[in-house]
Amino acid sequence: MVLDIVKYGDPVLRQKGERVENITPELTQLIDDMLETMHDAHGIGLAAQQIGRALQLTTVDVTGVEDRPSRMEVNGEKVNPEDYMPLILFNPEWTAVGNTTEAGPEGCLSFPEVYGDVKRPEEIDVTAMDEKGEAVAFRCGGLLARAIQHEWDHLQGILFIDRMDGLVRADLKPEIDAIQAETKKALG
Ligand code: ZN
Repeated sequence: MVLDIVKYGDPVLRQKGERVENITPELTQLIDDMLETMHDAHGIGLAAQQIGRALQLTTVDVTGVEDRPSRMEVNGEKVNPEDYMPLILFNPEWTAVGNTTEAGPEGCLSFPEVYGDVKRPEEIDVTAMDEKGEAVAFRCGGLLARAIQHEWDHLQGILFIDRMDGLVRADLKPEIDAIQAETKKALG
């Protein structure tokens, strides 16, 4: 089932997600719905907060993005990221590999039509629990690393506008304020 995507201005986007220890049937259904919602919206990532649930759960899928490459390594071996998509990550954590950061354009399904550069580590090591309740670990770079960091932020209640350079954010302020006002009006 395609779920409604929460827009900026809804307080759930500022809530830190609760850790998940057990995969219940309800969560399995939620994962299916989140994947369907993410794909329907042509997004490459969706956090539980974006469908109104403050949980440490995100889905990511960079399949088919040709112009912005992704890299992935599992157990030190290079793999094709598309073989691992979609990723379903509970309680994800990441650390930067090296000191290389890169500014790149980002959008967010909770901020329709808002795009701005965000500087982030280019390569990261990720650990998480998957949809079977098993621990997973991998290294990734490029767009996939950016997407996972963007989603990790959501799980902490952090939004990409918080990470933007002040000048970039100032430029986008009218659009951001308009989304917030519309959301608040709809929430009453
Ligand atoms: Zn987002």
